[in-house]
Amino acid sequence: MTGESDELGARLKVYEGQPAAVSGMGKDPVNLPMIRHWCEAMGDTNPAYEGPEAIAPPTMLQAWTMGGLSGHVGRTGAYDELLTLLDEAGCTSIVATDCEQEYLKPLRPGDRVAFDTVIESVSERKTTKLGTGYFVTTRTDVRVGDDLVGTHRFRVLKYAPSRKRPAKKARRPRPVVNRDNAGFWEGVAEGRLLVQRCADCGTLRHPWLPGCNACGSLDWDTVESSGEGTVYSYVVMHHPPFPAFDPPYAVGLIELAEGVRMVSNVVGVPYDKVRIGLPVRVEFRRHEDEDGALTLPVFRVVDVLDGEA
Ligand code: ZN
Repeated sequence: MTGESDELGARLKVYEGQPAAVSGMGKDPVNLPMIRHWCEAMGDTNPAYEGPEAIAPPTMLQAWTMGGLSGHVGRTGAYDELLTLLDEAGCTSIVATDCEQEYLKPLRPGDRVAFDTVIESVSERKTTKLGTGYFVTTRTDVRVGDDLVGTHRFRVLKYAPSRKRPAKKARRPRPVVNRDNAGFWEGVAEGRLLVQRCADCGTLRHPWLPGCNACGSLDWDTVESSGEGTVYSYVVMHHPPFPAFDPPYAVGLIELAEGVRMVSNVVGVPYDKVRIGLPVRVEFRRHEDEDGALTLPVFRVVDVLDGEA
């Protein structure tokens, strides 16, 4: 796209310097409950924000001007027009990229905040990893009475999302096999679940490690697990989605009959039927993709529940 004339960019430039909000008023005066909630959320224990002489944390500047779910106060048509132009040109996505604030005077409980926002700049057309679009910067001047107490500069990228690459079957991530755990994966390839055993004190361990946590010995051999176990704990993965995985799915922490625990998928029941204590048995699943074949141990629920399998 570079080098092409940017007609849209020229139309957007016209909005530089135009107001985005005029004589906006904070929905609430500066107040202690909002300050307290902010400090709790941020973990900020600065004593300046407590007590009869409290000031508001400077970083709350924008909070006092926010429209909330019910909408912005004092917003003008210019900013909406600008966004609409971008929408119509296919730049339908938006992401906040950065913000800068300047603090001139502390805000105190009872202060009533007023603000004006100007469209400070619209960038040239830019191509980012997200897509191609324009950075729009607004500057909000925050006042109490006639005093400027701070400014808040906010930048968004309004963009056309880059097209997704053609769908390709995602490859299942491979286990990281190293000298410490190679024996485990060799066992899995043969359909055996091998647990490390300290050659000195006999303590079993998993995942595989060079030394014994109980006695420090570096000598070990293995025992083959029966593959029987129970769900010790689990989570259901909804988000984020990982390529090659199809959420929601249950990830279990399985306690093997031998006493060690192992993380794996629980299969054989719907994800929302997985429960702590369910008896499970190992099953070796083979995956084929362009990287070749991969065998992974998963755990199948032994008793079929409610007739579902
Ligand atoms: Zn040991």
